[in-house]
Amino acid sequence: MKNVTRILRTGVMTCVVFSLAVCHAGDEGKSAMETSDAKPEDPAGAVTKTDAEWKKELTAEQYRILREAGTEAPNGRTYQEFKKQGSGTYHCAGCGALLFSSKEKFDARCGWPSFYDPADAQNVKTRRDLSLGMVRVEVTCAKCGGHLGHVFEGEGFDTPTDKRYCINGAGLTFVPDKADAE
Ligand SMILES: [Zn+2]
Repeated sequence: MKNVTRILRTGVMTCVVFSLAVCHAGDEGKSAMETSDAKPEDPAGAVTKTDAEWKKELTAEQYRILREAGTEAPNGRTYQEFKKQGSGTYHCAGCGALLFSSKEKFDARCGWPSFYDPADAQNVKTRRDLSLGMVRVEVTCAKCGGHLGHVFEGEGFDTPTDKRYCINGAGLTFVPDKADAE
């Protein structure tokens, strides 16, 4: 009988600890850019998932941006984090595809993470976006179709392309370069 009580007690404790951990992770991920130690594997082909599957895998904020073409508030927590990040790579928070890197990062002072070029052009797709009464060019992940932001051209930035990929930080996972992290 004693043993049974002990097993039950251990079981209950494990459950409590587990739910606390899950709850904590949920809060953390809500509006912050994810940082990962391991480089996500670049998906070999197209990543297709149902809305229900995406909802399960992404935080509410990531789902709103990546799957519903939402926009995060400017100068938010992800942007503050972005400004502090050293060298590393930026991957799609939905599927892990390599999108941008710190080499193309520049300070556009616009309140959102900005890059002058993708790190891997074949993973980044653009298309004309006529929503909200504006003519813009939408930027999406070529692998999972996730909405990333918009790209603007010819604004006079002193960069090799004079393009500004204006990207929602919550749609990105940052992986610091190994040498930088140590
Ligand atoms: Zn993706």
